[in-house]
Amino acid sequence: MQAAPHIGHVRSNLNFDILRRWFAYRGYDVTFIRNVTDIDDKIIRKAAEQNRPWWSIGYENERAFNDGYEALGCLPPTYEPRATGHVTEMVEMMRTLIERGHAYEADGNVYFDVRSLPGYLALSNQDLDDLRQPSEDGETGKRDPRDFAMWKSAKPGEPSWETPWGRGRPGWHLECSAMAHKYLGSVFDIHGGGIDLIFPHHENEIAQARGFGDEFAKYWVHNAWVTMSGEKMSKSLGNSVLVSEMVKQWRPIVLRYYLGTPHYRSTIEYSEDALREAESAFARIEGFVQRVVEMAGRPVEPAADVPPAFAEAMDDDLGVPGALAVVHTTVRQGNSALAADDKDAAVARLAEVRAMLGVLGLDPLDAHWAGESDQSQDLHGVVDSLVRLVLDQREAARSRKDWATADAIRDQLGQAGLVIEDSPTGPRWTLGPR
Ligand SMILES: [Zn+2]
Repeated sequence: MQAAPHIGHVRSNLNFDILRRWFAYRGYDVTFIRNVTDIDDKIIRKAAEQNRPWWSIGYENERAFNDGYEALGCLPPTYEPRATGHVTEMVEMMRTLIERGHAYEADGNVYFDVRSLPGYLALSNQDLDDLRQPSEDGETGKRDPRDFAMWKSAKPGEPSWETPWGRGRPGWHLECSAMAHKYLGSVFDIHGGGIDLIFPHHENEIAQARGFGDEFAKYWVHNAWVTMSGEKMSKSLGNSVLVSEMVKQWRPIVLRYYLGTPHYRSTIEYSEDALREAESAFARIEGFVQRVVEMAGRPVEPAADVPPAFAEAMDDDLGVPGALAVVHTTVRQGNSALAADDKDAAVARLAEVRAMLGVLGLDPLDAHWAGESDQSQDLHGVVDSLVRLVLDQREAARSRKDWATADAIRDQLGQAGLVIEDSPTGPRWTLGPR
């Protein structure tokens, strides 16, 4: 975890938020763990550079990530354990691994002996003979250069914890195996993460857990990157792609639509044009929702069941693009029903659309988004009264055949960013394109 999250960071969590919502819809009782790496090389480096305590960096990162997830409508995890709160469990795991001959201590470091575990590298399908594992600073005393550090001996000025092998601090991989064992037991269903974590991180998690005696994850779900000009998005791109900046320019629900609806295994090549397309695609869905709510004059609850085609797409390797196509088809059917003045059919389609959008975390009527836009709802009411007042003036001008004034009013509203449509029930206004 580093600094504030950019849209590449939150994509992963968005994918897993949708997966989790889908399992909940399917009736599973989901335990969702998201661990917090609150000690690592980057945190230690940053703390030294800024002359701040290491833990203040960890807390700051955690808050920034949680704000980003919350802004995009991700449900909070069941548990959110921090690495440094689990040193006892890590020491216990290392003790067992050493006893069983899977690990050893050297110069205060504890290494995992990669040759001791048959099946190491099965996830990334690599051959141990081809493996090159670069040693990091201070990683001395390895029996085999491919062994990886679970625990690093203390360096001056760095945070450290007491262990049977002297003071030191956890390497990155160990925390995940230790926390998974504590919160999920010796076997659990799914482990997620970005494709860049498959090796070495996830391979090393598996090695530690299997050596310890856990079965660990039954399935792995790895999401693809968000790229910019073909490169993995990174901190060096600056602030423009930070979630905290992007939500100032784009509605969070539109960002969620853009980042959450491509297939999790497809790369998203970031572009403003694509974001704008996502914005208008979502506007078509939202416009339908609003028209039916207006027409019905009452709340329309989500249907109990999603359409079978939506479920089929979601059940097939979380096929969100296929599922989203069903949303758009249902919206089109609903719009036809509206045009044909078939209120019952329109309401029924809205109920289905809401059920599907709920699974995707994109229901504009959901409390998360409605709550967030409380202020904008109030503002909408105020603007609506003002616009109606102005439109009454325009109607008055028209009725006295003062076309110049009527047109001038319409133009001025247009300049203010409002689009006026004359409908059989009187003029309607909407916000024009930004
Ligand atoms: Zn991990």
